[in-house]
Amino acid sequence: MRILVVEDEKRIADFLSRGLESAGYAVDVANDGASALNLVHATEYDLIILDLGLPDMDGLAVLGKIRNRKVSPQVLILSARDGVDDRVKGFEVGADDYLVKPFAFVELLARVRARLRSGQPMPERLQVGDLTLDCIRRKVTRAGENIELAPKEFSILEYLMRNRGRPLSRTMIVEHVWDMDYDGLTNIVDVYIRHLRSKIDEKYPDKMIQTVRGIGYLLDIPERSSTVMPQAER
Ligand code: CA
Repeated sequence: MRILVVEDEKRIADFLSRGLESAGYAVDVANDGASALNLVHATEYDLIILDLGLPDMDGLAVLGKIRNRKVSPQVLILSARDGVDDRVKGFEVGADDYLVKPFAFVELLARVRARLRSGQPMPERLQVGDLTLDCIRRKVTRAGENIELAPKEFSILEYLMRNRGRPLSRTMIVEHVWDMDYDGLTNIVDVYIRHLRSKIDEKYPDKMIQTVRGIGYLLDIPERSSTVMPQAER
């Protein structure tokens, strides 16, 4: 899940991106309307958190331009303008939600999660074989045992499970899980996959994370070609 924070006040932008990142989202920040629009053209975001008082143009104008595009992410306005008229205008231009500053981060996070759930009908609990992932409580179990994952490990696993059986390239994984400030090598994915394997696969006979040569990784229940089935009828 990738979020764009459009906010000119650095203190708030930092606070938001730190909080959202530790909640497991990939976060980019734009400090004005023009750079926000550039990013929206170049990147697919799941959600935009939009301030209205921007230095170069009004946030509502930014929203109007975003809404003119064919594919449009969810937009949550986060503004100090607290009048009923302001809210109405925000919704008219196409906001999906409106939160007034000052705000409590827990409320913002709850609304972000609600928005992201309503945007795409996504199951809150993913299951592949005996591996389960609870997207809300952010818990992972295998064969009923709790597994502790770091935020990035969780995000990669969620992405793999949502795309069960589909090979995902390292680039796709990096773009989905890291934000644009990450300009390192896609080798980082291999490091995280190694950690994930040691946590969710190592002590189980069925290895879910599979390497797809020349591409990347996929997650699925492995085919049981090497398993000896009990032969009861002989
Ligand atoms: Ca502002």
